[in-house]
Amino acid sequence: MDLSTPLTYVKGVGPARAAFLEAKGLKTVEDLLYYAPFRYEDRSNVKPIRALAPGEMATVLCAVRSTKVAGFQRQKLGLFEATFTDASGAILNGKWFHGAYLNDVLAPGQKIALFGKVEFDSYSRGLSMMHPEFEILTGDEDGDAALHTGRVVPIYEAAGKVTTRVLRALLHRILEGLAPVDDPMPPHIARQMGLPKRWDAIRGLHFPPQDSDLRLLNAFRSPAQYRLIFEEFFWLECGLELKRARARLDPGVGFELTDRVRERIKQMLPFKPTGAQKRVLGEIARDMEAPHPMYRLLQGDVGSGKTLVAAQAAIIAIENGYQVAILAPTEILATQHFFYFKRLFQKLDYTPILLTGSNTAKEKIGLKKLVGAGLAKLIVGTHALLEEDVQFSKLGLAVVDEQHRFGVEQRQKLLEKGAGKHPDVLVMTATPIPRTLALTIYGDLDVSVIDEMPPGRKPIITKRVDQVRVEQVYSFLRQQIDAGRQAYVVYPVIEESETKAMKAAQQMHEQLSKIVYPDLRVGLLHGKLPAAEKEAAMDKFARGETQILVATTVIEVGVDVPNATVMVIEQAERFGLSQLHQLRGRVGRGGEQSYCILVTEKLNQIAGERIRTMVESSDGFHIAEVDMKLRGPGEFFGTKQSGLPALQIGNIIRDADILEIARNEAASFVAHPPSEPEFRKAVLHIRGHWQRRYGLVQVG
Ligand code: ADP
Ligand code: MG
Repeated sequence: MDLSTPLTYVKGVGPARAAFLEAKGLKTVEDLLYYAPFRYEDRSNVKPIRALAPGEMATVLCAVRSTKVAGFQRQKLGLFEATFTDASGAILNGKWFHGAYLNDVLAPGQKIALFGKVEFDSYSRGLSMMHPEFEILTGDEDGDAALHTGRVVPIYEAAGKVTTRVLRALLHRILEGLAPVDDPMPPHIARQMGLPKRWDAIRGLHFPPQDSDLRLLNAFRSPAQYRLIFEEFFWLECGLELKRARARLDPGVGFELTDRVRERIKQMLPFKPTGAQKRVLGEIARDMEAPHPMYRLLQGDVGSGKTLVAAQAAIIAIENGYQVAILAPTEILATQHFFYFKRLFQKLDYTPILLTGSNTAKEKIGLKKLVGAGLAKLIVGTHALLEEDVQFSKLGLAVVDEQHRFGVEQRQKLLEKGAGKHPDVLVMTATPIPRTLALTIYGDLDVSVIDEMPPGRKPIITKRVDQVRVEQVYSFLRQQIDAGRQAYVVYPVIEESETKAMKAAQQMHEQLSKIVYPDLRVGLLHGKLPAAEKEAAMDKFARGETQILVATTVIEVGVDVPNATVMVIEQAERFGLSQLHQLRGRVGRGGEQSYCILVTEKLNQIAGERIRTMVESSDGFHIAEVDMKLRGPGEFFGTKQSGLPALQIGNIIRDADILEIARNEAASFVAHPPSEPEFRKAVLHIRGHWQRRYGLVQVG
């Protein structure tokens, strides 16, 4: 038996169990060794019933003597009572509220192990346990009672019908039968970090030593767990480093940063870039100068001025005779970008074009010709730019807005649009997450972070208002508008019910324009409007012709109207946290005090936490962190899309501290390997590891 032995070859794993294990992704001995317990129980205090004392935590090996469901009307709520006895002849009671289901589980005569707190039961005048944990001692797995009791035991998530108990026995058998596994961790790192050996760590994960600290174990911070989490992250990060390094060797465009380019950039800039904007532009420009493709993620909170940085990068490409594509996730956002770039580039005589699904067939033909002939220098569009037969003449830079809606596949398509060479790719995202996390999640991208807001921004005041007090919101809105400001009123839209949201927005528009503010101009914007009407609605709002814009979440990203100071979000409890933060980012873009008003109905606990976070914090990093915790990393990132690797032991959120250390160690190991043979050994291990874990090849 070795690490790659299929589990079907392990004694005790028949076809039925193998199928359950496989459904959990457990196919080989190695898979099972890295199947970490999610909890541990201290079952070391084993005592006969006669020796039990009230107040102690104890483990009792005994037999079921009698069972009954006590008389509650509803079976489901029944109190289940059992009595137990052992060789000492004494009797122990067990009680479970809502335990009627146990009637089908426990039967007199069964051997059982109970774990729990011993209490004195004044009713029966004997000893009892409330809701003890238990394991039934039957079946072929129980030869070794010492395995399941009398020690700190691991508790696993069951794999279908393969219970924690069976898993424990299987792992025990495997660990007994396996020769110590080798340890590919570079020795100097293991030494410097004081990591236990891999083999000891694996054994300690499943069967912690007798003197283990239960609290550390249950916090995933025992030395064994730490080592294995670190190891998983370390190999992951090494692989990512190698992948990144390798991709950087592909041929790409080397742009020149001449004085003329610098002059043109200066000419375009409407204001002085912030320090952070300058720094990230420097990082981008260095990448663009190199004759290899850039894959860079530009992170920055809403309103931090990412688009301005993208515009500067675009100038570098255009002045070098290349074309630039700007890709947006929605048509509205594409339109927004189009206007923004058009305004910025007026002074430079570049004419951006907008190519979207709602161009007429005839328009498309004309526009595509411009692109194909290289006459259009800056092309703004949606994914459609990739799907359709748009031929660029000389694509040099692609700016992709909003990474998490943009799959790896789309990025690949983009590369194919470059004429022979990989165009540089700049991905912008307004979901700020810590750098290490970003480097892990968006594995093949380098990361630049804008961590500073343009000067003169006043923090937005955020308030929650109950739906029944919405009148107050309306009068506040009126005050702001009387003072010359503008406002958004937004309705939730859930992808599949755009029609419903549209109706709600239309209704609200009716009510606001006819009843509440008959004297004001109220615009309407939703996803179902024809493109021309969307454009007109945004344009009117941008020019201040309409004072209130009622919208669905189509305005979530990209709208830029500095005079708008109020964002009212109706039914705010239905929005996700990052989405709320994005929406709030639509205001506070000018010098005036801005407000975000979250109108809500009754809140459940999680919605309450989201709203509270919004009211208390305006820090995009903090908000993203809470959002990740509330939703879990998988849902937050949309696992499939982002290519988030499936981790076995480590959890990028719970173990963010270890991830950080592992990344630093990996980066310096790959950059300065201590010796050639050691590096080669590591690379081999990384390849195997990636292949097995993530089904990926081509590392290093
Ligand atoms: P993001 O795309 O990061 O959300 P934008 O690029 O849309 O941010 O910029 C937000 C607003 O701030 C825009 O109105 C933009 O013109 C303005 N802005 C950007 N950079 C600066 C700067 N350095 N100084 C002042 N205003 C800026
Ligand atoms: Mg933007």
